[in-house]
Amino acid sequence: MLSDRVKNVQPSQTTELTNRVARLREQGEKVIRFNVGEPDFKTPEHICQAAVWAMEQGFTKYTPVMGILELREAICEKLERDNHVRYSPGEIIIGAGAKQCLSAALLAICNPGDEVIIPYPCWVSYTELVKLADGVPVMVPCREDFSLDIPAIESVVTDKTRAILLNTPNNPTGAVYSESSLREIARLAMKHDFYIISDEVYEKFIYDEGEHISIASFSKEVKERTILINSLSKTYAMTGWRIGYTAAPAEIIRGMNTLQSQIVSSIQSLSQKAAVAALTESQKPVEEMVREFRKRKDYMEERLRGMKGVSCKSSKGAFYLLPDVGACLGKKDGETVIENDYMMAEYLLKEAKIAVVPGSAFLAPGHLRFAYTNSMDEIKAGMDAMEMALGRLV
Ligand code: PMP
Ligand code: GLU
Repeated sequence: MLSDRVKNVQPSQTTELTNRVARLREQGEKVIRFNVGEPDFKTPEHICQAAVWAMEQGFTKYTPVMGILELREAICEKLERDNHVRYSPGEIIIGAGAKQCLSAALLAICNPGDEVIIPYPCWVSYTELVKLADGVPVMVPCREDFSLDIPAIESVVTDKTRAILLNTPNNPTGAVYSESSLREIARLAMKHDFYIISDEVYEKFIYDEGEHISIASFSKEVKERTILINSLSKTYAMTGWRIGYTAAPAEIIRGMNTLQSQIVSSIQSLSQKAAVAALTESQKPVEEMVREFRKRKDYMEERLRGMKGVSCKSSKGAFYLLPDVGACLGKKDGETVIENDYMMAEYLLKEAKIAVVPGSAFLAPGHLRFAYTNSMDEIKAGMDAMEMALGRLV
């Protein structure tokens, strides 16, 4: 008999679909994967070599729970250089990807019944991670253009509000929150005394002018209210290495350290050495990857906008598009009416051999989420197939 905790939590719809698509491909189906947000690029060679070297040196044992000092120092340097916020190694803890960092951070700050505000559309795991920590997700819709609705956020603040969970650049909308909206969130956090959990895993994937803004950089007071979470998964095409990190006030890091000491002991040793190389050596591969993503985004946006019944807002960051396919719903595939985005995703998988995530998984019904983490050739083929499949609906 499973615990109520497990029964109360949904499995991740993104990872479930990834497994399903992997099985289809194993059976020989040629499915194009627009479903998973994971760079298709190889982890840069110098990063892999750092892990090989560490293995040859016998660096294959437990490490400190917080992570090796060398990596925590490299993260402090990175945060100062790129994000203009100064941390010491005692304010950093390494986790098995940003997902585990988010989980540990929420477990460290939430008491049963504490409320965590989540603007949506949002990544699938946010609501479930809050529930796992016995918290209550308080969902607030973003504005029509996917920007933050500050008055709506302020209206749900109560004396149980423990934190707000922000993700900029955003999965799944591609929104990049403006400096003024982040300053408003910082103001609310100070006024009402809650934490800002700032998920910055897509910080390098910005396609407009200007840099990513870390909310913690606004002031010492805001930094004290911020739990900054980042990861090497996306920036360095290192999803499988499972390295993320949290930068937060030392008290929170100590709490997370206690949890991790009981739950994970320490994070993979070779991955930590690889992460040091990623952060301290050439950043050229990142720039090249982002340039390529921009080309794909522009192409895909244009193709989606050219399809009847599809409207697609411009994506400013991350590597996702969230087109609205509402006008295609209600049409028929033979005798079957495509009633919702789940059915549309199934139809496209069957008829166009493309895998996309139904928007409902991100609380965006009537939409589909596309990750452009594929080669241009695949994107072209996938868009052609989708256009033809939509054209067959009556
Ligand atoms: N945050 C967001 C918004 C994500 O999309 C993801 C997806 N991987 C993560 C966190 C977790 O990343 P990872 O655990 O691979 O570092
Ligand atoms: N974050 C990625 C996505 O949204 C990877 C899958 C996951 O962990 O949810 O597709």
